[in-house]
Amino acid sequence: TQSKASYKPDIESRTPPYAKLLKRLQEVRQVLGSSKQLTLAEKILYSHLDNPEEALLSNTDNGRNIRGNANLKLKPDRVAMQDASAQMALLQFMTCNLPSTAVPASIHCDHMIVGERGADVDLPESIKGNKEVFDFLESAAKKYGIEFWPPGAGIIHQTVLENYAAPGLMMLGTDSHTPNAGGLGAIAIGVGGADAVDALVDAPWELKAPKILGVRLEGQLNGWASPKDVILALAGRLTVRGGTGYIIEYHGPGVDSLSCTGMSTICNMGAEVGATTSLFPFSSRHVSYLESTHRSSIALQAQAIASTTSLNNLLRADDGAQYDEEITIDLSTLEPHINGPFTPDLSTPLSVFAKAVKSNKWPETVSAGLIGSCTNSSYQDMTRAEDLIKQASAAGLKPAIDFFVTPGSEQIRATLDRDSTLSTFEEAGGIVLANACGPCIGQWKRTDNISKGDSNAIFTSYNRNFRGRNDGNPETMNFLASPEIVTAMSYAGSTTFNPLTDTITTPSGAPFRFSPPTGAELPASGFETGNPEFLPTSAAPSPSTEVVVSPTSDRLALLEPFAPFPDHDLKGLKVLYKVTGKCTTDTISAAGPWLKYKGHLPNISANTLIGAVNAATGEVNVAYDVDGSTSGIPELAQKWKDQGIEWLVVAEDNYGEGSAREHAALQPRYLGGRVILAKSFARIHETNLKKQGVVPLTFANGEDYGKIDACDEATTVGLYEVLKNGGKGEVKLVVKKTDGSEVIIKTKHTLSEDQCGFILAGSALNLLAKMKRS
Ligand code: SF4
Repeated sequence: TQSKASYKPDIESRTPPYAKLLKRLQEVRQVLGSSKQLTLAEKILYSHLDNPEEALLSNTDNGRNIRGNANLKLKPDRVAMQDASAQMALLQFMTCNLPSTAVPASIHCDHMIVGERGADVDLPESIKGNKEVFDFLESAAKKYGIEFWPPGAGIIHQTVLENYAAPGLMMLGTDSHTPNAGGLGAIAIGVGGADAVDALVDAPWELKAPKILGVRLEGQLNGWASPKDVILALAGRLTVRGGTGYIIEYHGPGVDSLSCTGMSTICNMGAEVGATTSLFPFSSRHVSYLESTHRSSIALQAQAIASTTSLNNLLRADDGAQYDEEITIDLSTLEPHINGPFTPDLSTPLSVFAKAVKSNKWPETVSAGLIGSCTNSSYQDMTRAEDLIKQASAAGLKPAIDFFVTPGSEQIRATLDRDSTLSTFEEAGGIVLANACGPCIGQWKRTDNISKGDSNAIFTSYNRNFRGRNDGNPETMNFLASPEIVTAMSYAGSTTFNPLTDTITTPSGAPFRFSPPTGAELPASGFETGNPEFLPTSAAPSPSTEVVVSPTSDRLALLEPFAPFPDHDLKGLKVLYKVTGKCTTDTISAAGPWLKYKGHLPNISANTLIGAVNAATGEVNVAYDVDGSTSGIPELAQKWKDQGIEWLVVAEDNYGEGSAREHAALQPRYLGGRVILAKSFARIHETNLKKQGVVPLTFANGEDYGKIDACDEATTVGLYEVLKNGGKGEVKLVVKKTDGSEVIIKTKHTLSEDQCGFILAGSALNLLAKMKRS
């Protein structure tokens, strides 16, 4: 505790390398010509290119069509990891045998903490239950010089905003809401662990140059409308897929009316529309936020860069920069929105929500209200909610339902505690949970009378509302709204209540109507540090530290490097399973109870493809061996692995859609999968397969899908040559059917030179480790 109490943040490692970035920006200008106008997102991304000339000129019609075409090899400034995904990232990093990480990095213990009875009880219990994982993460952090934020310190994105995010920074985070840092002008992208390892070992990280969607903000928010409503309304317009392949860049006069934390809320939920990331231009509110979070020196440097009128302005878009698409939102007329249930893009303006409740037959009572999380636990959010609570308390009212508060970090919790905001919540009956994800990630043990299967409605200020996400009950309808609306709804207990127009009857029988909420953007007396136990460990590597992994653990297992590709084509590959229909990363590596095994590849591999539908029989997870015997898919894969038989999977379109989950590529590889033959692949998963040494092939003729079946035996022809020739050439499969006949299947591939190297080495990490050694 003593060493933590004297902890001083290393501001230098938290300051974006501005001099280097500005120099790179000049190089980019030289390559593209100084008359080329760039958006803000392009400036920050391209100034992180490993080799601007190569990236911006190849494949882009000589720099004219970069967005959507160029293959960017980027050098991010920093990496952040949350406890669930950090496990596999670190296990992979360890196989490279490097003494420390190449860029500053941090680990945040937030996902594995339960929300039930309040922080005092929940936190110690969660630490006990996950001790070996936390010990592993802490020891690895210490060894390799990663800042370790212990359980209770806060949620990754809030802690990043308070400590690491900065204008012009580029970072990767192993969590989909990493774009939260875009509220402070950073390019922050959510990735899988293997991608994070690229940055940790100083290998360039690849990204297809995104298109840019400009969102022009006009006017200014007022009354009940909040930053959350900007993104709730936008999600309704864009849908959950509308941002795919895009960076959302906000601009326009309305930006200046938003607080830094409000901008972060908006960027956080860009993940809900599928955007690569979202960001805001430099604003005076960035200066006040950086100053209040003890980073005045960064504020000064950013201010100097943002105020230049020269081509060196890294922190604002060039005048006249063009967006691929543009949307305008007038903040002055924006009304509160409520999104859900079950999907974040079902967006309903508050004024017509009661009607929607009736017409959709949604429950008319609310069973719980939950505010906070990484999305909405800023000082401004909480003090606006506090104002409503004070209004209601003065009228003699209490919340009609359970009301939970999840602070995003120890810093915000301690500050709200000092300023009596938390006691206002608690006196009204609110329960303050640990500074962690808790109910937002399914770690919510409900103690009310709602049982699994009961249809009910909850209101949260969170960002996701898929079925079963919060309490594991698929019938719980989670309606997303601003903290202010969630708070007001918690007093009414009714989904048809409109706090702008309706009244609640007080105990004395008088009607009570809320006034529009007011709050403070930043605490007048600055932020508190809080409990020193929750400060991070130092970032200096300590090479003698032993990384704690028990050989008997069922939750953690060290990774063995995969074997290199043989010096010939693959022979005797058997078709493990022919999948029909959708095959998402969830189908390939299910979540839920399996999350516990994310750091144990052999154990989590027991869920491989258990959601896949058998093309021959329509059964789910029923695989047939050559002798006709049946088993689950992972059991047959393990049996074949034990017999030394390597295999392939045959699938239909968009194989691996869904998430960047690297386990969906690691597990088949671990169990002996060498090839996935599909009609088409989801782009991120296709890359992940190659990184783990699995060869993704597509049918040259889609109808050939009908010519190959489970237990057929395939030999690749041309694959080894293609790998040796950096991706040039074609691959065929000679398939021996179980009746002895033979068919030839022509395939296509998208193997680049680098990716051929990954596959030949056995995996991308094997190659990286080899390069670092030589
Ligand atoms: Fe993800 Fe929810 Fe945690 Fe935010 S609070 S990081 S959305 S689980």
